[in-house]
Amino acid sequence: MKALFKTALAAFYPKTCAACGELIGEKEWLCPFCREMIERCDPAKRCNRCGLPKKDCVCKSRLFRFDGCVAPFINEGTARNAMARFKFRGCRGSSRYFAGQMALCVRSVYREIRFDAVCFVPMDPRKEYLRGQNPARLLATELAGLLRLPVDRDALVCTRYTKCAQHDLGFKERQNNVKGLYRCPKEVDGKVFLLVDDIKTSGYTLDACAAELIAAGAEAVFCVTALITYPKKKEKKVQ
Ligand SMILES: [Zn+2]
Ligand SMILES: [Zn+2]
Repeated sequence: MKALFKTALAAFYPKTCAACGELIGEKEWLCPFCREMIERCDPAKRCNRCGLPKKDCVCKSRLFRFDGCVAPFINEGTARNAMARFKFRGCRGSSRYFAGQMALCVRSVYREIRFDAVCFVPMDPRKEYLRGQNPARLLATELAGLLRLPVDRDALVCTRYTKCAQHDLGFKERQNNVKGLYRCPKEVDGKVFLLVDDIKTSGYTLDACAAELIAAGAEAVFCVTALITYPKKKEKKVQ
């Protein structure tokens, strides 16, 4: 009966919460519960170099080629559900919301930085064709609009087809999977980039992209992602 009522209601009022699918008002993005629950990163406790909480900072053990990394949300619960829905269904409202929150992070953490362009982690073209979109590209385009910066669409290219998604792999495999995967096909002398991806997990993908941009002459690369994965105890030992 409840399901029937919902279906009938959805016909007139089809907007649903981006995280849980609950019906919501026309101008909302999340239902009140998810809005309350969404897992935000605490800027006061964050290492702005690796993006992790200071107590989990990995900057001493790993040398990242990017100069900074920030994200508005933790890759858990509500934020994770909203991202999964965005990635697999592609929803303009979600990319707008995430990009808006990313813009706030960029404006506060990178306020001293003068960016020349926004670029994004490219997707294996076959995968992008099958999925019909690259979430990183959507976020970068939306974010660049908010920050009034140009998007450099061909700053990075994907050099081969990938066997599986990064998130299905272990730490060591992730490092190997991205080896030689990205390339900067042009000279980008002296440019400062804002590199966008949907989720930062190990940081190997962003690092590989930053390394390519720097090798092609970029002066600096700063990263922003919508979500960041905080380390679990098991993963801490691997580092
Ligand atoms: Zn909800
Ligand atoms: Zn750090």
